[in-house]
Amino acid sequence: MHNPRWDAIILGAGVAGCALARRLAPVHRVLMLEQRSRLAKAPRIGESLPGAARVLLQELGLLERFLSGPHRERGPAVSTWDSDTPVWQDAITAPSGPGWVLDRQAFDDLLRDGAVEAGAELRTGCRRMDITTDASGWRVHLPFEGVTHHAPIVVDATGRSGGIAHRLGLTRVADDPLVCLYSILPARPDDHDASLRTCADDHGWWYSVKLPSEKRVLAYHLDINDPLRRELNVPEAFQQRARRQPLLSQVLGERELAPVHNHPAGTALLEIDNLASADKGFLAIGDALMTFDPISSQGLFHALATAASAHKAICNGFPENNDALRAFQTEMQAVQRRYLDHWQRTYAGPRRFSQCPFWATRAQGDVQTV
Ligand SMILES: Cc1cc2nc3c(=O)[nH]c(=O)nc-3n(C[C@H](O)[C@H](O)[C@H](O)COP(=O)(O)OP(=O)(O)OC[C@H]3O[C@@H](n4cnc5c(N)ncnc54)[C@H](O)[C@@H]3O)c2cc1C
Repeated sequence: MHNPRWDAIILGAGVAGCALARRLAPVHRVLMLEQRSRLAKAPRIGESLPGAARVLLQELGLLERFLSGPHRERGPAVSTWDSDTPVWQDAITAPSGPGWVLDRQAFDDLLRDGAVEAGAELRTGCRRMDITTDASGWRVHLPFEGVTHHAPIVVDATGRSGGIAHRLGLTRVADDPLVCLYSILPARPDDHDASLRTCADDHGWWYSVKLPSEKRVLAYHLDINDPLRRELNVPEAFQQRARRQPLLSQVLGERELAPVHNHPAGTALLEIDNLASADKGFLAIGDALMTFDPISSQGLFHALATAASAHKAICNGFPENNDALRAFQTEMQAVQRRYLDHWQRTYAGPRRFSQCPFWATRAQGDVQTV
């Protein structure tokens, strides 16, 4: 097969791409192209899933398998945000249920297996591809295979890199320079704490939660150009600074040290109005469309939800029917507005640090524009 034809080509086999592939594959010919050759085995950050995801997992026909997986129910949240006094929030008060702390590897595997099982074709190791359009639609050429794949629809699900949208000339209306430094700390037998702990300080904010794998994640979010970042890449300094927060020192104790990883983590928003300018038949979903700040704990839910919205647009006749794209855009713009409003109110919270640059810029609603 030298010029295979598909109904949709999805670039990126993360949560968003796999969720869309799973929805489409029973009645459409779907190709997923993933740049990584071996899908990660290392623990990955991003482990909190809100209870509202239940209905989306149900629609995907994956809820039962998910519930029998290694994830655990979320416990209470406790934070020192507005003041030094901890504020507790009971998990059972969440309207859609407490949600889960994920075994992220198992969650990603569930979605990927679900897509393939539904009939989507997955190619990994696609590090180079040439993407063009002509009168018949999209052409994605894979030089290492010497094959050109054709489809009327191409979906960017490449995550926060949004590499494909960028290549097609779309820009971001916001790109916040937040970076996450994190360690996955070894298990301690006496660590039975189920809470999600969040603390603000003068340079950024921390969170820590115990993972189902008996490890604990410790993460700090600060500006990418903050000189403190360099210091905190040293594991001793990282844990020492965390221990200044009583909420964290209670659960950290004398932990073994673990490497400190860096991951870009700030809000990044694609220009939704201009989606059509990338050419007919282009959609973006998940982080490639809108990357949410980890403070929202909404990235995975949003990845599943945008896949559902893209599926709806395709079922409603996208790309031939312009109304289907307009409805998708209108919905995503509303999500973007709600998110930005919530984001600004969250960062305006720690008034005790309102003079510190990290908080001052964000409290004014300045998600930086690139
Ligand atoms: C520090 C941090 C903490 C977070 N915590 C949470 C949390 O607690 N809860 C939550 O809900 N969310 C959290 N998130 C966000 C969450 O991880 C993301 O929103 C989610 O993974 C987005 O899914 P996605 O499928 O859009 O992107 P990804 O999961 O990033 O998947 C994108 C896929 O595309 C592939 N790819 C990239 N470029 C290309 C290319 N050019 N061609 C082909 N394939 C490509 C990648 O290899 C990857 O497999 C966190 C994020 C960060 C950074």
